[in-house]
Amino acid sequence: MPEEPCQCPDCQRFYREHDRLIRENPTLRQQQELNWAALQSFRTLAGRVLEELQKIHGDGDGPAPAAATPGASAVAGGPNEAADQDAIQQAMGDLENINAHLFSIEALMERIFDVRVPEEVEQKFRELAGELAPDPLNADRLRLNRLLHQTPDLPDHRG
Ligand SMILES: [Zn+2]
Repeated sequence: MPEEPCQCPDCQRFYREHDRLIRENPTLRQQQELNWAALQSFRTLAGRVLEELQKIHGDGDGPAPAAATPGASAVAGGPNEAADQDAIQQAMGDLENINAHLFSIEALMERIFDVRVPEEVEQKFRELAGELAPDPLNADRLRLNRLLHQTPDLPDHRG
């Protein structure tokens, strides 16, 4: 008996996204562009957030810049504020690690993106993409699904 893939909501969302990315990017070239754009957008956004946090909270190598809020300046925060600051420092460390890893991944990906294949091979990509991730709203597929599953609970629209 073949093992059924997990059908929890998280996994279902993953399968849908996975298939959509194949369906909408069915060639090697498109997969290269998609993944390059995803990597770069991740780096840009995470890098900017880290920069902003460092401006506000310091870069962790010294005391944070004085708060610009008048009246709150010399007053030490309560335990909650200290815990919040710890969480921020922790997050900044995590973001630094993420950015370092993204930088390494970019160096590896550059080699993947140098590759070009003949149109014949791209055609094979398209062909298999169609098999792996057929359009779920395709009329033929819907009809086939109904035949396969013999869904008795589907309402009969013929009146
Ligand atoms: Zn699951």
